Amino acid sequence: MSKFQLTTDFKNAPYWWDAAPLTEVAGGALAPSYDVAVVGSGYTGLRAALTLARAGRSVAVFDKERPGYGASRRNAGFLGRTLKKSYIDLKAAKGAAFAAAIYRDLMTAYESTLAFIEEEGIDCHAVRCGRLIAATSAAHYALLDRELSGMKADLGLPYAMLPRERLREEMASDLYDGGAVIPDLGSLHPGLYHRGLMERALAAGVAIFGNCEVMAIEQIGQQGDRFRVTTAAGPTRAQDVIVATNGYTPKSLPWHARRLIPFVGYMAATEPLTPTLLQKQLPHRRTVIDSNLDIDFFRPAPDSPRLLFGGATANGLEDPVAIASLLHGRLRRALPDLADVKLSHVWTGQCAGTFDMMPHIGCHDGVWYGMGYNFAGVPMGSFFGLKIAQKILGLTDGVTAFERDAFPTLPLYRGNPWFLPLAMRWFAWQDSKLAKSTSLPVIPSGAGRRAA
Ligand SMILES: Cc1cc2nc3c(=O)[nH]c(=O)nc-3n(C[C@H](O)[C@H](O)[C@H](O)COP(=O)(O)OP(=O)(O)OC[C@H]3O[C@@H](n4cnc5c(N)ncnc54)[C@H](O)[C@@H]3O)c2cc1C
Repeated sequence: MSKFQLTTDFKNAPYWWDAAPLTEVAGGALAPSYDVAVVGSGYTGLRAALTLARAGRSVAVFDKERPGYGASRRNAGFLGRTLKKSYIDLKAAKGAAFAAAIYRDLMTAYESTLAFIEEEGIDCHAVRCGRLIAATSAAHYALLDRELSGMKADLGLPYAMLPRERLREEMASDLYDGGAVIPDLGSLHPGLYHRGLMERALAAGVAIFGNCEVMAIEQIGQQGDRFRVTTAAGPTRAQDVIVATNGYTPKSLPWHARRLIPFVGYMAATEPLTPTLLQKQLPHRRTVIDSNLDIDFFRPAPDSPRLLFGGATANGLEDPVAIASLLHGRLRRALPDLADVKLSHVWTGQCAGTFDMMPHIGCHDGVWYGMGYNFAGVPMGSFFGLKIAQKILGLTDGVTAFERDAFPTLPLYRGNPWFLPLAMRWFAWQDSKLAKSTSLPVIPSGAGRRAA
């Protein structure tokens, strides 16, 4: 019988919205034209809009829902220099120079996001708390060591392996076969980060239109107002258009939808715990992910004594009680001390995978885009937003290694990921195959495996 219980004030909404609730924002009267129209009000869209407005451009941001409704106020707030694809696989497949260039940009995305938050004085609990990657088997532990030692040798990225007998220094769990600590990775409160970004965009003169869907983007010329943008508030024109819709990309943007694999991420928050109980679970207050392809993840809330966690990605559940039950099972399996705690919040959010497991930035038919973050859009969305703005401003700083490869799709794919349940089963099979193996996969393994 399931042991889980919900609090009496249980919310089927992101924990982050308690501190950073969504607000109605109306951008005033729609102007006949803007220098730049942005579709989507998450980190990607707002970071681009803020940079452009501060450079003197007139900018309108449109969101179909209230601003921040997307993943930017729903995520776990882990800040990494992370790819779903492993560094060693990337290096084997594309060469050392390309892999190094990609990782340089990942590091810049991470560092520049933290620097931006500090320079802007955005109070969002951004810290370099470090991350524990918990190994789900001895073979996962060995693979983790190989991946991280490769990254340390080539890129100088720090890490320390933690054998099984020392795991309890980091986490009140006996589930894992040790792990690795990446000491310099960070975390933040995603809702407060997004709110801070939005306040600065509004102060810079960006017109943000909430509850205002963009229905169509048509190119009407080669110069000046090149695009007609049809919105729920009426038509307008723009010289440049940015699509920043990631996991919420609609089918009305078929070129982008064909390249994205939308999937649902699941999270929950516990009721407030006693300080002693919380401290025992994650004594160093680090973020935690496990080493599986389909990860479970844990962190302390930055602003209350709760544990936040997630996993069971793309499981297909929609009923909040069923989701709570599933997630609570994951929680008590990893952290048995919490077997009887109640859950106060459960929520979901839309993410976007890609067929090459890489995020993509570029321009298609004159329309700019940044998307496909594969669960790592806090730094990468912020970074791509900045890069797109720099490109529109004609700055050479806008160049990134991520634009080298074409944005792939598959024949006949139209944006309906019918194969997701099969893909998740394939991930689980890969994880268990690795767990049972006595030798490490030969490089390249083909199965990208997130490391840090
Ligand atoms: C549960 C969960 C946990 C996650 N954890 C992490 C993490 O710990 N670290 C990390 O780095 N990343 C994480 N991510 C991923 C990260 O949150 C996203 O990659 C990132 O927020 C994407 O930002 P964005 O601005 O591109 O898109 P979003 O913030 O998703 O915004 C897209 C917006 O586009 C709008 N939109 C869509 N269609 C239209 C239209 N036609 N007209 C107008 N507006 C439209 C939507 O309403 C939405 O608000 C997580 C995601 C989820 C769901």
